[in-house]
Amino acid sequence: MELQGLNAIVTGASRGIGRAIALELGRAGARVLVNYARNAELAEEVASQIPEARALQADVASTQGCEALVAACKEWGSVDIVVNNAGITADGLCMMMSDDDFDRVVAVNAGGCFRMCRAALQPMARQRSGSIINLTSISGFRGNTGQTNYSASKAAIIGMTHTLAREMGRRKIRVNAVAPGFIETDMTNVLPEVALAQVKQNIPLRRFGQPQDVAPLVRFLAGPGATYITGQLFVVDGGMSC
Ligand code: NAP
Repeated sequence: MELQGLNAIVTGASRGIGRAIALELGRAGARVLVNYARNAELAEEVASQIPEARALQADVASTQGCEALVAACKEWGSVDIVVNNAGITADGLCMMMSDDDFDRVVAVNAGGCFRMCRAALQPMARQRSGSIINLTSISGFRGNTGQTNYSASKAAIIGMTHTLAREMGRRKIRVNAVAPGFIETDMTNVLPEVALAQVKQNIPLRRFGQPQDVAPLVRFLAGPGATYITGQLFVVDGGMSC
């Protein structure tokens, strides 16, 4: 219960990796704001499993949405942990990619991370404490066919993480990034069987990751064991990118 008394916002926590992170932070004793975009019922179900939690709809691509999340968290007293997890894909080869598919993915993934950080940094700076954990991807540093938009957005998150760690360190705010490889969620269950077999072949641990493989690292980075860790990128990919 090392996060007892701390307040956390997890964006995109209705499903997949965000859901596992919200539950894990809840198990560690944190109060959790369970953010979602559309799936209210799923988010309420996640919140119902955490002793102190609230589900809250907000689009992270909007400044207003991010500010509303931070304001709701401040009602609990402080903003201690922000996990920027909400993300989308709209895959396609670059030659065929529409402006809209590029702009939308960058707006939600990179823009959402920026807007949430900007909104949360104000109370965190006043508090002189806080931990931000940004979900990026191995696509952000090694690329992935069909993901020009997604890999650009995830590379932006890595850059933002390093910059914010430098900017905010003197205020005792830590900013780290977590890069999953292939994790079984709604985001990845769209791939055909043949492609899945090929991906698995390239994972040294010979299995796909589960949301629960990512959540404990986020819990660690949020907590007292990580107080001298900032500006770092942690890869959770079964060895896929090694
Ligand atoms: P997922 O299962 O598709 O879930 C996406 C979550 O984000 C949902 O909770 C969704 O809410 C929320 N969301 C989408 N757009 C949003 C918006 N504009 N504002 C607020 N919330 C929004 O995704 P996932 O696989 O768990 O991925 C989570 C994060 O890990 C993403 O950043 C993703 O890029 C990253 N990641 C995933 C993998 C992987 O293999 N799965 C690998 C590397 C990195 P609703 O349910 O309401 O739609």
